[in-house]
Amino acid sequence: MGPHFIDLHIHTSASDGSDSPRQVVQKAAQSGLAAIAVTDHDTLSGIAEAEETGRCLGIDVIRGCELSVGTEYGEAHLLGLWLPQDTSGLEIVLAELRRKRQERNVRILSRLERLGMPLTLAELTAEAGGESVGRPHIARAMWRHGYVRDVQEAFSRYLGKGCPAFESKETLAPGQGVRLLADLGATVSFAHPMLLRCPALWLDAFTGQLKKDGLAAVEAYHSEHDAEKERRAVALADRHGLLLTGGSDYHGLSKPRVRLGYGKGGLRVTTAVLDRLKAARRERGLPV
Ligand code: AMP
Ligand code: ZN
Ligand code: FE
Ligand code: FE
Repeated sequence: MGPHFIDLHIHTSASDGSDSPRQVVQKAAQSGLAAIAVTDHDTLSGIAEAEETGRCLGIDVIRGCELSVGTEYGEAHLLGLWLPQDTSGLEIVLAELRRKRQERNVRILSRLERLGMPLTLAELTAEAGGESVGRPHIARAMWRHGYVRDVQEAFSRYLGKGCPAFESKETLAPGQGVRLLADLGATVSFAHPMLLRCPALWLDAFTGQLKKDGLAAVEAYHSEHDAEKERRAVALADRHGLLLTGGSDYHGLSKPRVRLGYGKGGLRVTTAVLDRLKAARRERGLPV
């Protein structure tokens, strides 16, 4: 038996991925992955179907989500892994975040209308399918209308930060986001930290503060971390005594270059990473 691989950062059609939770788990099985975490933005609605498929196919499905938090350098992302069964407190906050997303989507659509690219909210809702709706869905709807050649062009010309249809998202404060997840007994990981465009010293202080709030890990392995970013993320984790997590950030057709379990480059995360995370949870008396 060769090494076993895992993927702890995956989006489904519950948020802005294009594969249903069932399809994601089926693809994970076909790729020979031993464990995956479903980490949709601002929703837990894909988890049950993924868990059920995981039980059938013998894949460990970790209950997760991805939250955005606001910083002076733009959004940072947090992964909550091993969410408990009772998430009622979290659900209330997520519902509010999704409502704010919808308000922002309306603002983006009116900007697009002024730019001569009308889209209806009904079209956007149909494009999304799930309950957490965001820019990748708007990008896909724009592509369907022939306004852009592909999703990438929609982001680079219109929806990305600094572009004419950009609207920022209302987010939680960093400490609030970490505590919300950590208080539930989740393992909280700082997602793709090296994608933040900020000074290294600021990132170090920010990570130290997140740790005080309950951060347990840093996502060092990620499809958009090259070897140098990965090295710096591992060093960041080491300096703060944090664990490591890793995943592809698979989105299906919304990010076509990212392959489940791989990412864009040679990314492969082994079960050794998972074993260390589980050992740390057991030491703290948390379920795995
Ligand atoms: P939102 O949460 O609505 O702001 O959308 C953020 C999502 O858009 C993230 O999950 C990213 O994966 C995706 N995204 C951000 N920038 C790009 C881009 N340039 N190309 C494709 N997807 C992007
Ligand atoms: Zn996404
Ligand atoms: Fe993210
Ligand atoms: Fe993500």
